[in-house]
Amino acid sequence: MKAKYLLLFLLTVVVLAAAWVGYTKYFNSAYKYAKPAQAAFVISFDDQYVAEWYAQRALFAKYNVEATFFITNPDSLTSDEVEMLKALERDGHEIASHGAKHVNALNYTEEHGLEAYIQNEIIPSVKSLQKLGFTPVTFAYPYGANSRTIDHELLKYFYLLRGDSWKVKGKTVDELDKIFYRYDGRRVINGLGIDHGSGVTLEDIEQAFKRAAEHKQAIKLYAHAINNSKATYSISPEMLEKIFKAAQKYQLTSVTFKGLIL
Ligand SMILES: [Zn+2]
Repeated sequence: MKAKYLLLFLLTVVVLAAAWVGYTKYFNSAYKYAKPAQAAFVISFDDQYVAEWYAQRALFAKYNVEATFFITNPDSLTSDEVEMLKALERDGHEIASHGAKHVNALNYTEEHGLEAYIQNEIIPSVKSLQKLGFTPVTFAYPYGANSRTIDHELLKYFYLLRGDSWKVKGKTVDELDKIFYRYDGRRVINGLGIDHGSGVTLEDIEQAFKRAAEHKQAIKLYAHAINNSKATYSISPEMLEKIFKAAQKYQLTSVTFKGLIL
């Protein structure tokens, strides 16, 4: 009888150990990157405002800013837009993926499953960009809609994934831990939306820059169109320049999203 219990006990230990190994393998970062920590900021622009981004080449160059452009619907890019993106890439900017059709990953997977999402939204976005001569290695979730299960699958295709964080009442932006990267090999990093409609002020951004500077972390910001329309998903060139000046004040290096680990 005793031997039977001992066997049962040993079996339980083995099962628990296997579960633990499986758990850590599934949820922990598979890679350890040796990139030294530096105070930095990542700025990216989403969707397809190519001409407006291109128009700010001189502004980016003036402040040594290397931005990341997350492209959605790559099949609908005109040849002029492709040329502009190539010029931006030659300037040191990163061209990355924002999905084939800009679908909400959470809604889509709930309705059609994860496999369909990969086949219809992820693989076509990567292949289309590759066909145009780009090599997307990072991804931004449209609407910031993600989950651990989707992250786990997408990390087979991309080095880094970007989710979203918003300014919330009762919290200052330097308290939003997920928008800061601590050079710890984490592969899902949130961005702070800084468009006109985000309610994020220059003071907020400076507060976040201060944390990045003091703790040698990288902060991730993102916007969409660049113009003076004051539209919800736009940022003015003047505001961008103020942000770049603030980054200089706090001695933050500008890096592309992939530059955080590659
Ligand atoms: Zn988008």
